[in-house]
Amino acid sequence: MKIMLANPRGFCAGVIMAIDTVDEALKIGLSPLYVYHEIVHNRHVVERFERLGVTFVDTVDEAPEKSTIIFSAHGVSPEVRNAAKARECTLIDATCPLVTKVHMEAIRYAKQGYKILLIGHAGHDEVVGTVGEAPDAITIVESPEDVEKLPFTKDDPLAFLTQTTLSMDDANRIISAIRKKYPHVKDPPTEDICYATTNRQRVVRLLAPEADLVVVVGSQNSSNSCRLVEIAEHTGTPGKLVDDVTELQDDWFNQDQSVLLTAGASAPEHLVEEIIDYLQTKFDAEIDHRHTTDEDMHFNLPQSLRILQRQHQEASA
Ligand code: SF4
Repeated sequence: MKIMLANPRGFCAGVIMAIDTVDEALKIGLSPLYVYHEIVHNRHVVERFERLGVTFVDTVDEAPEKSTIIFSAHGVSPEVRNAAKARECTLIDATCPLVTKVHMEAIRYAKQGYKILLIGHAGHDEVVGTVGEAPDAITIVESPEDVEKLPFTKDDPLAFLTQTTLSMDDANRIISAIRKKYPHVKDPPTEDICYATTNRQRVVRLLAPEADLVVVVGSQNSSNSCRLVEIAEHTGTPGKLVDDVTELQDDWFNQDQSVLLTAGASAPEHLVEEIIDYLQTKFDAEIDHRHTTDEDMHFNLPQSLRILQRQHQEASA
């Protein structure tokens, strides 16, 4: 067996920042610590923090008044921020800056009087947060068929934005349908689908045709991981999404295969390593490192956390 090990894969800068935020908050003794929604969409990451005493909540009301609450990498609506402020919570916002950028674009377009078509998955945490910035101005568009049903006229000022973790191919199909129906539509000022999504999709699109099977490490609710499986399958190579090594099924594999192994942006690298170990032991697999793009993106910890860290250092000096 040959394992084509995709690179880049796994953690992106936004996920690293969000996970570091929770780790650092624990390190300076912010306890009890509440996180609004999963900090990143990965079961292993969430379970590790639960073991360390973090409580994940679906509504701000579940966090006691004056407690510390961290907002996840996917971002939140102003309504959620205000609800947390009303409870006098200490807020730490671990929203990925690339998600915040889309929020800012939504606010700006709405202020300028545009109707905004948000290309994304209704119900995904990120989309819920972005819609909350300008609920009266935003319409979610999930497919080219949705575009057909849009009620706007050629005279309406229209702009589109996208969720950061979409499939570039799907997004392009929807954007083409929008442009065909509304040639005057305004593009986002810069690409909304983020660098990490773009790079992880590109490597799968490029290498999946050489493979017999694509294995993506990631959780079912991780949008960018699910898109990697879809992209593999669009190239004609079957794809499997697994949370970890225990979900591998031996009858997927044989010793003569080429397996492309990658991981979504929220999947920890140790889960990839465990899968490699398993395939090496069981199928005598050899590794073929396939590198397509360098990544050097880095995001600072949230400012509110850095202030709390300083206060903690001063208090313990
Ligand atoms: S996938 Fe992209 S938008 Fe999402 S956290 Fe990572 S860098 Fe940010």
